[in-house]
Amino acid sequence: MQLYCNSLTQYSRLLTKEVKVGDILLGNMHPIRVQTMTTTDTMDTIATVEQTIRCIEAGAELVRITAPSKKEAENLLNIKNELKKRGYTTPLVADIHFTPNAAEIAARIIEKVRVNPGNYVDKKKFEFIEYTDADYKEEIERIRDRFTPLVKICKEYGTAMRIGTNHGSLSDRIMSRYGDTPMGMVESAMEFLRIARSESYHNIVLSMKSSNPQVMVQAYRLLIHQMMEEFKECYPLHLGVTEAGDGEDGRVKSAAGIGTLLEDGIGDTIRVSLTEDPELEIPVCKDLVKRYENSSKMLVESSKTESKSEERHYSSHTIHQTSYVPSISKIPYDPFVYKRRETFAVDNIGHEHVPVVIADLSKIENISEKDLQSIGYTYNTQIDKWSISDTAADYVFTGNQILPFALPGTLKVVVYGAEWKIAADEEKYFPIYQDSGYLQAETKSDHLNFVMIDCFNDETSINDFTHLDALANDPTVVLCLSSTNKNAMQSIRRMFMELSLRNIKNPVIIICDSYWQTADEHLIHYSTECGALLLDGFGNGICLGMNSAAYNSMADINASGRNYTSNQTTEQFINSTAFSILQATRTRISKTEYISCPSCGRTLFDLQETTAKIRAVTNHLKGVKIAIMGCIVNGPGEMADADFGYVGSGVGKITLYRGKEVVKRNVDSDIAVSELISLLKESEVWVEPSI
Ligand code: SF4
Repeated sequence: MQLYCNSLTQYSRLLTKEVKVGDILLGNMHPIRVQTMTTTDTMDTIATVEQTIRCIEAGAELVRITAPSKKEAENLLNIKNELKKRGYTTPLVADIHFTPNAAEIAARIIEKVRVNPGNYVDKKKFEFIEYTDADYKEEIERIRDRFTPLVKICKEYGTAMRIGTNHGSLSDRIMSRYGDTPMGMVESAMEFLRIARSESYHNIVLSMKSSNPQVMVQAYRLLIHQMMEEFKECYPLHLGVTEAGDGEDGRVKSAAGIGTLLEDGIGDTIRVSLTEDPELEIPVCKDLVKRYENSSKMLVESSKTESKSEERHYSSHTIHQTSYVPSISKIPYDPFVYKRRETFAVDNIGHEHVPVVIADLSKIENISEKDLQSIGYTYNTQIDKWSISDTAADYVFTGNQILPFALPGTLKVVVYGAEWKIAADEEKYFPIYQDSGYLQAETKSDHLNFVMIDCFNDETSINDFTHLDALANDPTVVLCLSSTNKNAMQSIRRMFMELSLRNIKNPVIIICDSYWQTADEHLIHYSTECGALLLDGFGNGICLGMNSAAYNSMADINASGRNYTSNQTTEQFINSTAFSILQATRTRISKTEYISCPSCGRTLFDLQETTAKIRAVTNHLKGVKIAIMGCIVNGPGEMADADFGYVGSGVGKITLYRGKEVVKRNVDSDIAVSELISLLKESEVWVEPSI
């Protein structure tokens, strides 16, 4: 075990206990199960059954249904019977908040119950209370009294349980002692787990969800560490990012959080929470999981057929199938705490600069002004001016091309060393070299040079990277780390560790190439591989690319209208994905952040429509976090660190929040969006949208 996983240098699945949910086995190396949750009113049996069937047909292996009170819990029997009548026996899960009575009913009817330790016994009052050790012990005994009956029912009926901690709904007791920290999340679940274990009940799955992937990843890692310390064994883990939102941002955020953990072999079941119809979550889950099929990380088929001499990013890489990455025993960073790797700055890269985005336009022949539109720069011929969007790339890689037009002020160009020599504008053009090629080059920029390092593409020993020492701390060098190893993320992470061990402080660009086919697959790939590194504080920039086969395949799929990017160029899709990854990992904020719940049977308004309405009027407010939550019962707790909240508080009624403070209660939903805008104005975060 390396801190929280089997290996930090090889994909290796973490062994967990086996849990039985109906006919499904979870954990203990069984396939990673995919699941979702209905959004219908649980009292509407037919609507819930039909939506459950749509989810099952899409591939859901478990379906969760909310049971806010006893009557919904009782209605689970009708739902289960109707599903059985229609030939479906997929295990159902009851989602419980605040109502132990409902949990005790549901546990007798369906295959699994989910309890939230933050509100199963405690009623949250957002109070800070000083607990003595004796007071705290007394509280735990109170939980034991209220929770043990459910444990006993689950044991008797063979029902499984998820102890599902949410960052946004920790109890006042946990908040008072630990704050809203990853450790607080872990302890919140451990209190319940210890009680269950003392009753010899082990059919348990755990989760540590947050809308912030940084917090979520740290909490899962700490939980594993804690379980191994305390029990010498680990319960299966259900992975998810809460309130991820919708569309591209929701997918990127989920993949960054869930994918980071899957990369380290962590996770036995996953749910991607999108503010979309629940069956649409399943293909995203499947894209995340299929990367690890057959218990080993695979490169996609297309890469296997790739010509070995094809030129890819910056150099003539070949596609390697090695999975060898040198092991390491001394880990030079703390995976439980986010800390950015220490670097110096070269131009606007590294030190305290936000990570840069390098757009790869090298596959476009004869790049024109119009092509820059895909990466955030629009040229207006009438006024002879560039307009620059908030998600405009910082650098563009053009391969062999010197651009035949005047560049926008903030954009710089990266070209091969040979071309750089003939570029007239040394302020705008910078060369890129292949590792030791830089050392041999006769001419170099005295300001900024990019140097590619292939990380463990073959069975190279770490001692073979002697040129690293020669490059080390050259104040003009930005390293660009890439890998075609099967364990690509682990290879690059290993190289980051090596840089730390050798005290090399040059800034680093993460180069991430995709070999997949559809837009969703690329999105998951980029978010997982870059997310896993950025969430550990690695990387001063990213450059996302595709090999030619993937690039051509994207163009074909787009032309057929089968990708959701069909109205975008591939470069536009990649550029916006890059900024979304930086936003999701909270390393560079370039747009408004929406924390919207996926909705469920408690939802009091059309969440998808409302989210779209709010997005349409606020998506120019860079850096503002707006939560859109379906109900007042869980919404305020779950909206975590949002700056503003729009929360359903009754039929046709909305309550508006600034942070955790209620500012407008029970506003008519017809005027709630304009009231939200007034609140943003009063709070001085509103700016008029540019036309
Ligand atoms: S916040 Fe949303 S998903 Fe959570 S319980 Fe309320 S309506 Fe359901």
